[in-house]
Amino acid sequence: MTGLKRSWVDSANSAETDFPLNNLPYGVYDKGDEEVFCGVAIGDYILNLTKLEEDQVLDLGLGVSLFGWGTFDPLIDEGQQVWDQLRTWCETVLKEGSPVEKTIAPYLDAREGVRMHMPFEVVEYTDFYAGKNHAFNVGTMFRGPENALPPNWLSIPIGYNGRASSVVISGTDVTRPNGQLKGPDDELPHFGPCARWDFELEMGAIVGKPSEGMVSVKEADDMIFGYVLLNDWSARDIQAWEYQPLGPFQAKATATTISPWIVTKAALEPFRTSTPEGERPLLPYLKEPGPMLYDIDLEVSVAPEGKPETVVTRTNYKEMYYSAAQQLAHHTTSGCPMRPGDLLGSGTISGETKESRGSMLELSWGGKEPLTLDSGETRTFLEDGDTVTFRGAAKGNDYKIGFGECVGKTLPAAEIPDWAKE
Ligand code: MN
Repeated sequence: MTGLKRSWVDSANSAETDFPLNNLPYGVYDKGDEEVFCGVAIGDYILNLTKLEEDQVLDLGLGVSLFGWGTFDPLIDEGQQVWDQLRTWCETVLKEGSPVEKTIAPYLDAREGVRMHMPFEVVEYTDFYAGKNHAFNVGTMFRGPENALPPNWLSIPIGYNGRASSVVISGTDVTRPNGQLKGPDDELPHFGPCARWDFELEMGAIVGKPSEGMVSVKEADDMIFGYVLLNDWSARDIQAWEYQPLGPFQAKATATTISPWIVTKAALEPFRTSTPEGERPLLPYLKEPGPMLYDIDLEVSVAPEGKPETVVTRTNYKEMYYSAAQQLAHHTTSGCPMRPGDLLGSGTISGETKESRGSMLELSWGGKEPLTLDSGETRTFLEDGDTVTFRGAAKGNDYKIGFGECVGKTLPAAEIPDWAKE
């Protein structure tokens, strides 16, 4: 494994920073006014690509602006060669001893205090269910341990088509949904605020290249531009009543939060790891030609309003049964065209132990085993005012490839209008 690549930006050389020279993730930000910039995180700073391009310090020879649009979509659309060209350029100008340090230094913006925006337009959003521990735990609660894993689970990366319109950037408040509910003892359903509001700890894979027809797992891997942390907010009581026979619908349509920095596949290369040995042989089109998962430590904290946060789970992306490349390959089998800006949620990432479960549903075992937070409060599901924060990093010997934070606070449900009352 390669070690830390040193930069003339001192804060990028710390073993603690999420953003050393090895990482170079892409984000969109403003500094408190109307102007929005595309940038690369480096230590405590952001290299302002928009200004560098405007001043023609950065010129990839394409004859068009890549960074003047407030989104990384134009870069993503250019494809692998330009992705590599930009990464090499950033690495060259930021490395220790670079002769252009004095030219580049004025284009560093302090990262503290900036406001982050969506770094790309989510054109479609699919969420998967590829964590075996999660699927087993949820299946056990919903259907009993004998029927926990559906018969197709060990053969198909199960997913559903989500709503691109519901994907929001870290820091956006999320309103508890109202919905149709029916408890196990209720004779009839009613309409009201979700009482079992939950997070799901996931990784999001961003598709960077289009497909026509079916692609192999190797080709699918080449199509992925990068990864983010992803919180698939879930209304468990709405879900339990609505999910059969067509899967989740309103339970998953309120919001999905992503972290603001796109960590490229290139930065994660040293951390590749294989999916686990299959319990049932996979069909040839789903077999991995090489390691397609990544060793990324993940954690979730919950902070009640005005109280300190408590880490409630620690797990790792390598717990998944299917990789994003396998999910993407499966997605194309129908002939479904995939496009740059397609977002794939991994599915909830739960480890084997109780402390590594990726949702409140599992952590509190369906509400039966409340968690005690450091503030002394207990939780089965999320309360209004709770802030949920995800963090993640792939860890080398003397550096890490960090994702920053994926944060969201829950606001109380909207008032139910009179015409919707019984
Ligand atoms: Mn999910």
